[in-house]
Amino acid sequence: MNLLVTGGSRGIGRAACVLAGARGWNVGVNYTQDATAADATVEEVQKAGGKAITLKCDVTQEDQVTEMFQEFEKAFGPLTGVVINAGVTARALPLAEFDTARIKKVLDTNILGAYLCAREAARRLGQSKQDNRNIVFVSSVASRLGSPFEYVDYAGSKGAMDTLTIGLSKELGPQKIRVNNVRPGIIATDIHEHSGDPDRVSRLGNACPLGRPGEASEVGEAIIWLLSDKASYVTGALLDVAGGR
Ligand code: NDP
Repeated sequence: MNLLVTGGSRGIGRAACVLAGARGWNVGVNYTQDATAADATVEEVQKAGGKAITLKCDVTQEDQVTEMFQEFEKAFGPLTGVVINAGVTARALPLAEFDTARIKKVLDTNILGAYLCAREAARRLGQSKQDNRNIVFVSSVASRLGSPFEYVDYAGSKGAMDTLTIGLSKELGPQKIRVNNVRPGIIATDIHEHSGDPDRVSRLGNACPLGRPGEASEVGEAIIWLLSDKASYVTGALLDVAGGR
């Protein structure tokens, strides 16, 4: 599979890239700021048995998104899979205390970025003749929990992503392109550093029915299954990987 992972340099995206490498897939590792992390991910993918390149692109910028997909296809040939994973959150606060710049950053990255990447993917996957072509969105259980007093901007962006998944699966199904979505719960990654609460991961993670936070690789495994031809009859699915949260 020729797989592009947005936000592939760290956390859940990195885990998905390395697991894809272990299957011998070609992987495009997207990042926007941290080139060192992206290089480290490429090395891990290669060690696992795959081929990989870094792709610097801010997913909120239309021109950069187009160039990223072009660069990927120049390196590996026609795209067959995309994981739309790049995402941000911000400090845990009630909505009344959000400033506008924060709301814009969260919505631009998580939902405008997802639309721009999904549009580019739909155009390119539609032209490919490969059997197994698909898109996996990385949403969040926040889309159904709402995350009050924390991140209602983030939760809303993920709600939009869930609806996009369902709509796009219906649009692209007739072209045999599958579109699915994983919704992680509390996963131990750097994203929680923005919350301003150093105990957040253990406090919320330990409170879920399975009694612990998740690992990025546990979400990565679900992503890889959805991408693979083992999930050949699965489309429009929203799969919670959240320890029951
Ligand atoms: P991390 O903070 O560990 O990684 C985020 C990744 O996104 C990095 O590779 C980062 O690259 C990239 N990124 C951020 N902004 C942009 C941008 N504008 N353009 C391109 N890349 C960007 O986060 P996680 O791995 O935890 O999160 C991945 C996804 O999983 C997100 O969508 C998040 O909402 C979702 N999720 C995470 C949960 C968790 O508990 N961890 C729970 C539920 C959902 P760089 O470092 O270069 O900026």
